[in-house]
Amino acid sequence: MKKIAFFETKPYDRESFDRANQGRYDICYFETRLKAPSVPLAEGCDAACAFVNAEIDAKVVEGLVKRGVKILAMRCAGYNNVDFEAACKYGLTVVRVPAYSPYAVAEHAAALLLTLNRHIHKASARTRDFNFSLVGLTGFDLHGKTAGIVGTGKIGRIFADICNGFGMKVIAYDAFPNPASGLEYVALDELLAQSDVVSLHCPLLPETHHMINAETLGKVKPGMVLINTSRGGLVDSEALLAALRHGKIGGAGLDVYEEESEWFYEDRSDVTRQNKTLSLLVSMPNVIVTSHQAFLTHEALANIADTTLQNLDDYFAGKPLENEICYHCLKSGGQPKAGCVQRAKGLCPGNR
Ligand code: NAD
Repeated sequence: MKKIAFFETKPYDRESFDRANQGRYDICYFETRLKAPSVPLAEGCDAACAFVNAEIDAKVVEGLVKRGVKILAMRCAGYNNVDFEAACKYGLTVVRVPAYSPYAVAEHAAALLLTLNRHIHKASARTRDFNFSLVGLTGFDLHGKTAGIVGTGKIGRIFADICNGFGMKVIAYDAFPNPASGLEYVALDELLAQSDVVSLHCPLLPETHHMINAETLGKVKPGMVLINTSRGGLVDSEALLAALRHGKIGGAGLDVYEEESEWFYEDRSDVTRQNKTLSLLVSMPNVIVTSHQAFLTHEALANIADTTLQNLDDYFAGKPLENEICYHCLKSGGQPKAGCVQRAKGLCPGNR
């Protein structure tokens, strides 16, 4: 039986993977995150399974391969934390789960927006204390306002549909616009200038790192609400903090944070040394931070487990890998392809 070293296990992962596995793999569940010191746990395993904040640099890749791991199954959509050049060099195949429930993430973005705008977090705290005052809880109608969607892939398009349902005007920016989406595309500067709500749904890439920064925040419509359920690195947190403090923007709903890996997914309430920017952000009344939980629905967890195990089944059966991410594909197109063309041509040593 093939063995999987499963890193960063939470009770909900174990439940969904045990249900999907049906005894076909020997899954060794480890609580620790995959990074250099935890690599020895994968000794003798055929596959490793990791999540969004794992630190998969060249040393980790080399260490996994040395210990017998042939395939790294990312149980997430994003892959900015993997050194693909190293994966290619050492011959480690990398697969992911490109879509498990875009609805889960888009609906969480809507939840952040509604909570922020209608001050539900404050109202809930007040009524628990028998304070039924409405002072300071005024929101705005979403109907008739403009939503700017950055990144119009699976999640961005669903969020656009939700905004349309509210009667909002939707405009979009994407480096690769999709004419079939029926969306009105504008330049990023125009989107920032026109939108009452800006929601980020593009991947974290070198070219999107800090796309929301002091300069771009200087171009936004006053009072704009920023929603980020994509990746923390899209936003320069210091610049965001400054814009919030100076009242340039109305609020921020953040499911991701650029330095989240040290904090998110764990109870850090007993840690005295805090991250200053994160502490200031969570203390602001017009900021809501959730701990990268937009994916967390029963449906998404079941799909993550099913697709991850199917990816491994395909790999061990020598079948084409629909969800492989290949260094050469990434380099040539900027977008991962379904199935690796370079692999078929024998050009990608990592995926032969
Ligand atoms: P997707 O690949 O379907 O869509 C991404 C879109 O971004 C595409 O339309 C692409 O053309 C566009 N894009 C690429 N480069 C761009 C650029 N430079 N500028 C603007 N747009 C660009 O991905 P998806 O499934 O919609 O997921 C979007 C993001 O959501 C992922 O990258 C991931 O980081 C994040 N995510 C977060 C969670 C969570 O729990 N918070 C869960 C899943 C995914």
